[in-house]
Amino acid sequence: MADTVLMILIHCPHCETNHLVGYRSLVEVQNTEYGPVAFAHCPHGHLGFSPRPAERHAAV
Ligand SMILES: [Zn+2]
Repeated sequence: MADTVLMILIHCPHCETNHLVGYRSLVEVQNTEYGPVAFAHCPHGHLGFSPRPAERHAAV
């Protein structure tokens, strides 16, 4: 299981789209008032996040 590849879906506000990136792109995870939010680099080097806070907030 050492080579297990974990992927994470992030939203990049610069590309204005979602990206599926590898776990190595993960920068950090923060606990916010809306729950845990993961920050990761999109394939173009921007900082994206998951899940999209606005969508999560609207879904509650
Ligand atoms: Zn981007």
